[in-house]
Amino acid sequence: MKNIEKEIFTQKLNNLYTQVLQELASIGIDMRNKDAVGDIDIKISTRSTKRYGCCKQENPDKQYKVVEKLGRRKSIRYEKFKTHHIEISKWVLDLNDEIIKNTIIHELIHCIPFCNNHGEEFKKYANYINKKLGYNIKARGNKKEDYEKSNLTYMENENYSYKIICEGCGQVIYRKRLNTKLLKRYRCGKCGGKLKLLEENHQGIKKEL
Ligand SMILES: [Zn+2]
Ligand SMILES: [Zn+2]
Repeated sequence: MKNIEKEIFTQKLNNLYTQVLQELASIGIDMRNKDAVGDIDIKISTRSTKRYGCCKQENPDKQYKVVEKLGRRKSIRYEKFKTHHIEISKWVLDLNDEIIKNTIIHELIHCIPFCNNHGEEFKKYANYINKKLGYNIKARGNKKEDYEKSNLTYMENENYSYKIICEGCGQVIYRKRLNTKLLKRYRCGKCGGKLKLLEENHQGIKKEL
């Protein structure tokens, strides 16, 4: 990831994360309560182009140990962890803020005891948050649909020519054609910020600038 992109996206992620924590607290879900949910950190991951995000759990709480007998075998799992590392995939940060916040909340729910999978407890929280705050948190996202909602063409084949980022709000714009000399004079339609060219693609050759 390019430095400027990393910087802008990290700031964008941190802002949205703060917003989400406040919104959740306003409906009684306090993700800053360490006794209840443990320590949480969040960062951008560049590894996956499919997955929206993930939540890596550490330090299981021994009081939440569940032993299940499956025939002769025993399976052990924990329903509460004290440390959580959330990763949001970089491509998600191209999408609109609502979808990024959806993804953050999805991963935050996994930090709540008994919510480490997409079972009943997870769904209970997702439904409650959707109802109270108007989100659309699901077990699985639809990448094509989310691109369309963000007014971006679905770029699975990377058949765009220019990728531009707003230095103000982190909005990403793809263009087939662009007069790069005029770019300096253009401004972001959302916040009026300066635009910066990040990538150029020419006939299948991808160049990170
Ligand atoms: Zn999940
Ligand atoms: Zn902007």
